Amino acid sequence: GFKMGIVGLPNVGKSTLFNALTRTAAAQAANFPFCTIEPNVGEVAVPDPRLEKLAAIAGSKQIIPTRMTFVDIAGLVRGASKGEGLGNQFLANIRECDAIAHVLRCFEDGDITHVEGRIDPVADAETIETELMLADLESIERRRANLARKLKGGDKESADQDRLLALAQAALNDGKPARTVAVSADDMRQWNMLQLLTAKPVLYVCNVEESKAATGNSQSDRVAAMAKAQGAATVVISARIEEEISQLPEDEAAMFLEEMGLHEAGLDRLIRAGYELLGLQTYFTVGPKEARAWTITKGTLAPQAAGVIHGDFEKGFIRAETIAFDDYIAGNGEAGAKEAGKFRVEGKTYEVKDGDVLHFLFNG
Ligand code: GDP
Repeated sequence: GFKMGIVGLPNVGKSTLFNALTRTAAAQAANFPFCTIEPNVGEVAVPDPRLEKLAAIAGSKQIIPTRMTFVDIAGLVRGASKGEGLGNQFLANIRECDAIAHVLRCFEDGDITHVEGRIDPVADAETIETELMLADLESIERRRANLARKLKGGDKESADQDRLLALAQAALNDGKPARTVAVSADDMRQWNMLQLLTAKPVLYVCNVEESKAATGNSQSDRVAAMAKAQGAATVVISARIEEEISQLPEDEAAMFLEEMGLHEAGLDRLIRAGYELLGLQTYFTVGPKEARAWTITKGTLAPQAAGVIHGDFEKGFIRAETIAFDDYIAGNGEAGAKEAGKFRVEGKTYEVKDGDVLHFLFNG
């Protein structure tokens, strides 16, 4: 599955947010036995109102949302790249994540110590980014030194790796994160395998005081401006409110949200922003037993999409019966969509679209 790492300085609200994410009714409702895998790893349901509509039409007994993993990565402080705090352990945890949710303290509260003694989320973002850049530089130097011998032997893969590492190194020496390097489509697989910390996409999560959850505050405005300049995404949230909501039954949570002037839970926005950041999309399988959402990356072809359900579906793939979500709704189900000529039979080279309702045929 896809993993989002929650990072940030101490006392910015990471744990509060993580607990809200994994305790929320939506996270528990879905039929998965282990919502919290480890104390700091949690699976959450990706909210998608389309699922309920599909289930209503098909009379599905059960709704199964697709899921995403969040990891609460504690222990990042100034000096982490030199082994301060939890140092290396923390860096290894980030390396395994596909993207980073960077929580920034935008709330004032004299009772809660800020490690740097002042509220400045833009400076905090730089502090963390600097640690990640230093860690990347160190690992690049180590790796390039190890590659030197293989390079002399004329190994093609090593040469490619070294070339990409050199590009990242140049950017970092220039004070820029590795994600600013323009990588060609051909190099993308190798590049991702380098697992550089600053190559991972970032979502800034502005934790504001309860009264500013709907509007944001002057600090979150500053973060938004910084994110815009970097081409990164921002979400404004009040971790305290999310924690409270996560303990309420669903109907009360909706009322509470309305009172706060919010249209939907911040967590839903956060999960969706993460999904978007990772370049993910959803297809559906629908039947009387269940309506279920599945996650694929954009551009995935039908056989690989089938493989998300089961490896055999991919190996023995024959074809995918396909109805676009809007056509399924407009036709009030498969029969109506067929009558309207919206039922397609797609082959191995079909690029699955977001919202496709699919039925796979395969040799088993
Ligand atoms: P972490 O160290 O980043 O995991 O931070 P925690 O989630 O443990 O939060 C540190 C302290 O800040 C706790 O006492 C939280 O209750 C408090 N806190 C978190 N979010 C907010 C917020 O939005 N407003 C206020 N006033 N306090 C918060």
